[in-house]
Amino acid sequence: MDPNNLDPNCGFPIKTLYIQYSPGNIRLMRCGKCKAVADEYIECELMILVIDLILHKPKAFRHLFYNMFSKETVNFEVQFHSLTFAIVKLGST
Ligand SMILES: [Zn+2]
Repeated sequence: MDPNNLDPNCGFPIKTLYIQYSPGNIRLMRCGKCKAVADEYIECELMILVIDLILHKPKAFRHLFYNMFSKETVNFEVQFHSLTFAIVKLGST
């Protein structure tokens, strides 16, 4: 897991977002600072994330920029940043 992950709710760095026991069987970790579930978007449908991005929820953007992609997917990440910028631009018009 990427050590640069953080809790989308409070921004506190977190080493592991979840523990995978078997394929499809994961347990979400809790934040060490606020004690909330660290990143609930891991289990959500992508459309929930897109709706929260359109609604400009800060935790959705933190999930997208810090927790969704590893550093090996930089090219895809740049494309997704462009998509996020487009969503923000459409939301502001
Ligand atoms: Zn937290």
